[in-house]
Amino acid sequence: MTRCRNCGDNWNVRATLKRYTTSTPGMPCPSCGEVQYLSREYRERSMLVTLLIPLLMLIPAFFNIPVVAMAILFVAAFTAIAIIHLATIELADEQETWRQRLYE
Ligand SMILES: [Zn+2]
Repeated sequence: MTRCRNCGDNWNVRATLKRYTTSTPGMPCPSCGEVQYLSREYRERSMLVTLLIPLLMLIPAFFNIPVVAMAILFVAAFTAIAIIHLATIELADEQETWRQRLYE
């Protein structure tokens, strides 16, 4: 569940989907209006999961798999990755930059 760091309310599926599909860094919480950002930990995790896609593209190079089977595999993989992203969204009160990590 996506939980607001300010008021603690769980975001509904619609708000979570909107957060996932928009590219703006901040989005106001539907309950309290405080702008929430994706946490740095979430962005790091989602990037690692996304890196699985190039690995999938290597499969046809090693195995003789029909194109239709590969298409089904890709659609299933993209769906699974989107579900993992949506299920693990974590919010932060402020925009956590990559640079902050260097000073921790
Ligand atoms: Zn809130």
